[in-house]
Amino acid sequence: MNIDAQPLIQWAGIAGKPLVIAGPCSAETEEQLLETAERVAAQGVGYLRAGIWKARTRPNSFEGIGEPALPWLRAAGTRSGLRTATEVATPAHVEAALRHQIDLLWIGARTTVNPFSVQELAAALRGTTVPILIKNPTNPDLALWLGAVERVYSAGVRALGVIHRGFSIGGQTRFRNAPMWDLVIEMRRTLPGVPILCDPSHITGRRDLVPEIAQRAMDLGLDGLMIEAHRSPDEAWSDAGQQVTPERLGEILRQLHIRVPETDDARFNARLGELRQEIDEVDQEILEVLARRMRIVEQMAECKLASSVTTFQVARWKALLDDRMMRAAHLRLDADYVKALYEVIHGESLRCQSEITSAARTVEPAASPPD
Ligand code: PEP
Ligand code: MN
Repeated sequence: MNIDAQPLIQWAGIAGKPLVIAGPCSAETEEQLLETAERVAAQGVGYLRAGIWKARTRPNSFEGIGEPALPWLRAAGTRSGLRTATEVATPAHVEAALRHQIDLLWIGARTTVNPFSVQELAAALRGTTVPILIKNPTNPDLALWLGAVERVYSAGVRALGVIHRGFSIGGQTRFRNAPMWDLVIEMRRTLPGVPILCDPSHITGRRDLVPEIAQRAMDLGLDGLMIEAHRSPDEAWSDAGQQVTPERLGEILRQLHIRVPETDDARFNARLGELRQEIDEVDQEILEVLARRMRIVEQMAECKLASSVTTFQVARWKALLDDRMMRAAHLRLDADYVKALYEVIHGESLRCQSEITSAARTVEPAASPPD
């Protein structure tokens, strides 16, 4: 589906990038929100965020103040001069948030996973001009994320964007949610006109790692950041470990290197052109080598077929991977990168061998005689 979203510049009320949405994970008390808003506003932020309804993983943890906190958020925005933003998960949330004149709404990761919920929200959002941001689903499924954008767009919303908040993949990573930047890049390639914000707070789960992810987002040319900031983070009722003080937020923002996607600098452009040409030549060599490898794989498949040997031998795969990892280390290539690459190369080799062996097994059915 072609998504013709309004450029961020038209709805965000900011003169340049990045758009920053900051504020506490949750609205806790009116006073907490007012104080945080005043201190956040001094840091050059566009929108004040606060969670009113909190989708918590386990029950019996703080699940948000609910509707009574909406007037606090509205007042905090008005007093600090900031626009306001909150998460909505049901049509009733949408109705309440719009009634209290919240300026921007986002759909949370736990809602994006469910097309029924997204469809209900889309219906509730029909006709609104308030910007809507859609967080990625908790699982790394780009189609589900795109589907949510399409549902909201189909309801007539044009001021829309997405928020990258990382993916829950199980297992150990440095982060609470794995960034999986390749999915973000694919989102940009698929929907180039849709603004993408990054949420380093929910990706990292740790305040000390927030600057690293925020910078990474800027390096990729993303359009903005959502960062959790609290007047006293350690006392926060939710997500205490990842929130920063408003003043620390200011430092993080000032230390960011904001890059531009293009420049008119002729010397730079000429040098970049040369290097890109070299890359193009190397890529041609890589493709030719991969094609050569594949022709050998085909011969191997015929050979294994003739002797009725399985396409996969675990001992060979282990030895191959160990050997390539060792060579990669000598060549100063990242171990995870080379491992992932070989998993793809080897996976394709097995697929190709299976295709050849099963084609040989398929016997053409005899043509049935006419009735
Ligand atoms: C949040 O922004 O507070 C939140 C709950 O985020 P997510 O939907 O990314 O988990
Ligand atoms: Mn949070």
